[in-house]
Amino acid sequence: MTHYDLVFLGTGHNALVAQAYLARAGLRTLAIDRAAVPGGGLRTLENPRRPGFLHHPHSFFHRAITRMPWFRDLEMERHGVRYLQPDLNVAMLLRNGRALEWWTDPERTVASFAEFSTRDAAALRRWTDEFRPIVEKILIPESQCPPLEPARRRALLERSALGRRLLEVSAWSPLEFVTREFEHDAVRAGLLFFNGLREVDLRLPGFGHAIPALLASPSKAQMCVGGSGNLARGLVADVREHGGEIRCAAAPREIVLRHGRAAGVRLETGEEITADAVVSGLNPQQTFLDLLPASAVSADLRGRAEAFGYNLLAPLFALNVALAEPPRWAAAAGRPELEHAFMFIVGLERFGQFHDIVAAHEQGRIPETVAWGACPSLFDPTQAPVGRHTAFLWEKLPYALRGDALNWDGAREAHGRHLLETWSRFAPNLRGAVLDAFARSPLETERELPNMRGGDLLVGSFAQGQIGWNRPFAGAGTYRTPVPGLYLCGGSTHPGGNVTGLCGYNAARVIAADAGKPVWWSPPDIETALAALP
Ligand SMILES: Cc1cc2nc3c(=O)[nH]c(=O)nc-3n(C[C@H](O)[C@H](O)[C@H](O)COP(=O)(O)OP(=O)(O)OC[C@H]3O[C@@H](n4cnc5c(N)ncnc54)[C@H](O)[C@@H]3O)c2cc1C
Repeated sequence: MTHYDLVFLGTGHNALVAQAYLARAGLRTLAIDRAAVPGGGLRTLENPRRPGFLHHPHSFFHRAITRMPWFRDLEMERHGVRYLQPDLNVAMLLRNGRALEWWTDPERTVASFAEFSTRDAAALRRWTDEFRPIVEKILIPESQCPPLEPARRRALLERSALGRRLLEVSAWSPLEFVTREFEHDAVRAGLLFFNGLREVDLRLPGFGHAIPALLASPSKAQMCVGGSGNLARGLVADVREHGGEIRCAAAPREIVLRHGRAAGVRLETGEEITADAVVSGLNPQQTFLDLLPASAVSADLRGRAEAFGYNLLAPLFALNVALAEPPRWAAAAGRPELEHAFMFIVGLERFGQFHDIVAAHEQGRIPETVAWGACPSLFDPTQAPVGRHTAFLWEKLPYALRGDALNWDGAREAHGRHLLETWSRFAPNLRGAVLDAFARSPLETERELPNMRGGDLLVGSFAQGQIGWNRPFAGAGTYRTPVPGLYLCGGSTHPGGNVTGLCGYNAARVIAADAGKPVWWSPPDIETALAALP
């Protein structure tokens, strides 16, 4: 039997990032995953009916990945991982042929906003300028450090003008932010959709800074050349190069405890793997309730793990298509730049649609279609056979359709056809260009990645105070848990879901320190960063 310093549960990108740092720190590591391939939400599938067409069953738009500290530290470029950041980063296509456009060049975005409202264009410029230092000096360092205790954080922020401004704007909800600061209906809708709806509950106070922070963020949406799975391949290569081991198709049955300390994992096959510590990339219910022996979990810890909540608005329905030609937007007749739009949004016209989307999720029904997607092969021809294309359209839809997620099995195909019909109204050539299509519902997401409970791709909501020090819950918010030798590193921890790798990046620092290993990289120090604010 082999003994490891650390055994990781799951090979999501956060676990792989943490494993790579710790393998480089000299620790003997093993990651196990129930799936057949490592990478979790980083996956590229080749269409089995149409060889050469690549699809993304999970993540595709990776924000600011090439600026992440681990991308550099773990030498992703040397491992052959390359990213593209198309210039027309997002285009919201309106039925009347107009389009609201977000460019990598902020001046072009301001010009697009000005076509709708000169006042909104001025507000965009003002908020981008004002929030740039807040993003660079506060929000980026905070996301790259274990979180501070909330009272300490507030005290540090209150000492500076930048910190006080962040606290002031944060107290609003995203809805309040757009209604106070922007006037045009389509601009408000676009800002909420692009920057808000996909991340946080728009009605939640405490998130007023989310939209200006994204407006001021230096990096936009990026895509991995060759498909998202290539990032997983690069991370796996780095882990293995430094002696780390990865075993797939290996399902854990329980976390083994010795003298009250996590000391390994027993697999479903009965095999036991011993380790000095266990690092879970899974969600709190899986980690504390499914995998720890009940006798090791106090009533208080059980209650906290059970109470960890998931996003109502995060599940996705996806239509994936193999195409004879790319979508040709009707609106591109007057706006040729749309032929090169990276992320496109269709069906979103009015601010008021948000209330219906939220109500539909609460009621388990399908709302009027608002969807977004991309045609990856337009930018990366390796993702489809020569002259052909691959594309997808995503829609936020409730997990419990008509009260029960199993209803998706009967409704999936028909809804996929409906989505294609809606898409074709904006790009009429699609009616004759589809060579193959398949749909995936929020239920497929959960079946494949059960840590995304209820299909929540963010692996836990930011509501109920589940942020920072309190993510997933107080007492487990700094990657250490109440069980000695057991750590967390997945999207259920700070700074949360999506492909950022920062949960794993931050966890690695804490685990290395506890293991008495040098932190060989140079993470920021949040106390110093906040104390130095102007
Ligand atoms: C349809 C869809 C689209 C998305 N689009 C984007 C996007 O464009 N941009 C973006 O940033 N994010 C996107 N996401 C979200 C993103 O994929 C996740 O937030 C991210 O992958 C979470 O990373 P993680 O490290 O927590 O682990 P995950 O990527 O969730 O991986 C968890 C791993 O744990 C394994 N696992 C689960 N349960 C067990 C178990 N019991 N035992 C052993 N192993 C287990 C899984 O097999 C998996 O490998 C999308 C997700 C989905 C589903």
